[in-house]
Amino acid sequence: MSTLWKDLLHRYPPAAIEFFVNSTIQLVCFWLVSAIYIFLPYFSPAFSARHKLQKQEKQPTAAEIWECFLVVFRNQVLSSSAQLGTILLGAKSSHRFDVILPGPAEVARDAILCIFLREIIFYYVHRLLHHPFLYPIVHKPHHRFTAPVALAAQYATVTEHILANILPFALPPQILKCHVITFWVFLVFSLLETTTVHSGYDFFSGSARMHDLHHEKFVVCFGSVGLMDWLHKTDGKSGEGRRLQVKMQ
Ligand SMILES: [Zn+2]
Ligand SMILES: [Zn+2]
Repeated sequence: MSTLWKDLLHRYPPAAIEFFVNSTIQLVCFWLVSAIYIFLPYFSPAFSARHKLQKQEKQPTAAEIWECFLVVFRNQVLSSSAQLGTILLGAKSSHRFDVILPGPAEVARDAILCIFLREIIFYYVHRLLHHPFLYPIVHKPHHRFTAPVALAAQYATVTEHILANILPFALPPQILKCHVITFWVFLVFSLLETTTVHSGYDFFSGSARMHDLHHEKFVVCFGSVGLMDWLHKTDGKSGEGRRLQVKMQ
């Protein structure tokens, strides 16, 4: 592994390696996993129906899923083009590309810290996007899918894509100065998590149910792993969550 890593660093610039690996991870952990979730009702209708969180009549139509695909594709083309543009302009990667690979303990520690920081950043950005001034112009389109599907994880305006989909993933590894290998582990986890919580299925218990509830009720469960919702009592179970729900009705 370390010989392969040394060889890669010897042959290619770090920014090019990062672009190639990031794109591959997006392709597998976002697009392929989303496709599996979306086509599940066609491959295994009984299994799919057993695990869907919301009723069949609330599920999006094929035309809506196609529109979702086009918006998500546009967002990814824009972000990948921006990354490619900075590489062509000679920008260096912002992650550590040390020849010595980090050990499993360092990767685990930094990935957990990244998840913790992402939860804080995402929670406050997401709550800000629900401000009455910002919500209609920035975040409302993401809430179009009251019964979400995996692809809807990145169904967003360009502003929301930058603020809520890119920054909470990109900032933590840079703040912690993580090795790029740790960043990739964090990226894999984050993409698998965001597609799963938007999948509309009850797999991996609580987290999918929480974000599904956010799409259904709008004013509860703003975070991704539940920590900040627990802290601010916006988990839908506590007083503040119930008060917000009543206010919305
Ligand atoms: Zn969502
Ligand atoms: Zn929201």
